[in-house]
Amino acid sequence: KDKTTDRTITTQESYQLATRITISIYDEKEAPNSIFDAIFDLIAGYEDMISRNITDSYVSRINQAAGDAPVSVPDDLFNLIHQGITYADLSQGAFDISIGPLVNLWGIGTYEAKVPESSELEKALSKVDYHKIELDYDTKTVFLNEKDMFLDLGAIAKGYIADEIKALILEKGYTNAIINLGGNVLMVGNKPNSDYWSVGIRDPLSDSGTSLGILELNDNSVVSSGVYERFFEENGVRYHHLINPNTGYPEQNDLLAISIVSDVSVDGDALSTAVFVLGVEKGYELVESLEGVEALFIQSDKDIIVTPGLKSKFRLIDDTYKLVY
Ligand code: ADP
Ligand code: MG
Ligand code: MG
Repeated sequence: KDKTTDRTITTQESYQLATRITISIYDEKEAPNSIFDAIFDLIAGYEDMISRNITDSYVSRINQAAGDAPVSVPDDLFNLIHQGITYADLSQGAFDISIGPLVNLWGIGTYEAKVPESSELEKALSKVDYHKIELDYDTKTVFLNEKDMFLDLGAIAKGYIADEIKALILEKGYTNAIINLGGNVLMVGNKPNSDYWSVGIRDPLSDSGTSLGILELNDNSVVSSGVYERFFEENGVRYHHLINPNTGYPEQNDLLAISIVSDVSVDGDALSTAVFVLGVEKGYELVESLEGVEALFIQSDKDIIVTPGLKSKFRLIDDTYKLVY
């Protein structure tokens, strides 16, 4: 029981979507196991649908049928792929859900990670183009219209699933909760008897995951992407998991990490990846063009830039960084 909130906080964890899932529900009394079971089942259902590592998932079936035949998919997945394409358009291709051939080639996060041969890179690059994903809105089918294309929803799925969990929590009558899918944080309502939830922003230069600052927010999503999440190093160069679909290489720019604050987590997830690849200037421009979306950029020179809507909500705690606006 948290005395500062007058509420009972019930927290349960699981390991799904290849990451740590933590759900905390605030209520008058302890939240029952049944709500957590329903949440973990929901996640498992989406994982079975979306995972590219599960051979009979719908996404795997789409990939196996590339260049061959359209695959009919559940409405949920159809909508998610539609949204993925919308974000690809919005970011002018910096975000691309057909990135799979490049992700597979680099193998970042696996034991096989290596810098690819340029001939292999050329080949994979030629298979990455979201314009070649054909959606049929009547029959709800998805077709990758060239052999060896490969859909990868890794940059958008956690956000989407977080939104679905929030809907479930609200539907069950709970009004205050925190959903944390491996660092993708989605708040349900406000923090009871408090002005805000404090969300730590990870120091991308620290291996132990310490926070460099705090965002003070209510009823928002916070999603981060950075060079620290999954990477390998070779000859002093860090190759991380955020790939530029134009060059085929992990994006090298002035950024170490970015965080997106939004109402809906699928927007934040897609944008975190898109804005990282776009870099500060274009990324800032994109975020400012969108209603209700804010961003925090952490540069390699340790300057931190926030969009106007976050100025009063970000508190820097590590003074080796500098807030420059
Ligand atoms: P994380 O999964 O670590 O939270 P992101 O949400 O930023 O990080 O997604 C990164 C994942 O998205 C990569 O592991 C890869 O599967 C995929 N990806 C990498 N680059 C791109 C890109 N340019 N567009 C879309 N997806 C990408
Ligand atoms: Mg993302
Ligand atoms: Mg993410």
